[in-house]
Amino acid sequence: MLKIYNSLTKQKESFEPLDQNHIKYYSCGPTVYNRIHIGNARAFICADLLAKVLKGIYPKVTYVSNITDIDDKIIEAAKEEKVSIKDISNKYFNIYLEDLESLGINKPDLQPFATDYINEMIDYIEKLIDSNNAYIHEGNVLFDTTKFKNYGCLSGRNLDEQKAGERVNLETYKRNVNDFTLWKPSNNGEPGWESPWGFGRPGWHLECSVMSELTLNIPFDIHGGGNDLKFPHHDNEIAQTCAYHGSSEPQDFARYWFHNGFLNLDNEKMSKSLGNVVYLEDLLDVYDGNQIRLALLSTHYRQPIPWNKTLLEQAKTVSKKINKFTKDLNLTPKFNVDTLIAQDLLDDLNTPKAIATIQKLIQSPSNNIESELETFQYIFEGSKHKVRLDDNKISEIEKLIKERDIARKNGNYDQADEIRDKLTKMNVIIEDINGKTVWKI
Ligand code: AMP
Ligand code: ZN
Repeated sequence: MLKIYNSLTKQKESFEPLDQNHIKYYSCGPTVYNRIHIGNARAFICADLLAKVLKGIYPKVTYVSNITDIDDKIIEAAKEEKVSIKDISNKYFNIYLEDLESLGINKPDLQPFATDYINEMIDYIEKLIDSNNAYIHEGNVLFDTTKFKNYGCLSGRNLDEQKAGERVNLETYKRNVNDFTLWKPSNNGEPGWESPWGFGRPGWHLECSVMSELTLNIPFDIHGGGNDLKFPHHDNEIAQTCAYHGSSEPQDFARYWFHNGFLNLDNEKMSKSLGNVVYLEDLLDVYDGNQIRLALLSTHYRQPIPWNKTLLEQAKTVSKKINKFTKDLNLTPKFNVDTLIAQDLLDDLNTPKAIATIQKLIQSPSNNIESELETFQYIFEGSKHKVRLDDNKISEIEKLIKERDIARKNGNYDQADEIRDKLTKMNVIIEDINGKTVWKI
């Protein structure tokens, strides 16, 4: 019934669960050291979209999404904020939960924390060393990627490319360029745990192999994450799990691999160092959660999104049109399989088509319109987050800013200051950047 693109076989396939009565799905979750940006939001919305559709058609689904709470970026953030890594990860985990809720994303069924599985990771590494799949170098343990014959099968890399790459930048203790860390030493007060290889901490890739197997057993049905995780993260997970079990078949780990496309800012990479990161929290000041959700789902999950304000404005218009139509109806959001909307979604989660379908149906309603709308609401409208500013307030702020710009241009600085004070009283912060006034609340 459900068709889904499998990144491992690189084709759209009919979804055949291992057990119709219990679907098992794992998706890589956040590293909790920062507020989430709009690209992360896209990844979590796509993961939730698949979970919602699966839950709409199968009696039991277990959706697991891990929490990376030990990582160099967390250690760095803890140092900067002068608190423990536990404080950092707890703080940002709670913010992450709030962000999920504001976007109408259901909480995953299980959210295992990496630091709760340290002993299991140590046991796992010991077995990889004993079976000659990993080697030790001065407190580091590395996975030997030449020992897994299908290494790189997901991303399409192969050992020939690996050899070509070997000539450049090979760290002295690595036997092969793609070999990766399973364990590394913690020095100079860095957090860590005792292990047979000394005081240290696990490498990032390991946690997903260990926690997915311990929460779901292997093989499980679907493994997902953002496109950037295909290599090296997911290829490394496959290598570890298969090597651990003496298998060469990636599907002995997970059957279907589900990846969302990237979100860039109008074709430019969003990056902290370029100073052009769009944080979800800032968008929630001016748009409802469902409007942001709709904007992110207006592109098919596998396509890249060149993000810009027009997408949000279009989503806002569509969302308002739908709300106007549904406001007096008594609807219960649920996945009604016999609807056009459901059929669009069952075809590799075609959300842009479903959004077009609902707009057509609103223009010329069919008998089944309520059932269609219920399905639409179930997928697209789970958020209760309302914008902190309504349209009237936004117009008022923009009008005052225009008046202030004119006053400044004409040299009426007293008047400009008065307007600034008025805006401050309304909790609006304004900044003059490159001759342009930007505002936030
Ligand atoms: P992180 O917390 O950085 O590990 O990222 C969490 C999730 O967000 C992963 O599944 C990433 O693949 C995904 N992700 C990060 N940046 C973007 C982006 N710009 N567009 C889409 N997904 C992203
Ligand atoms: Zn992962």
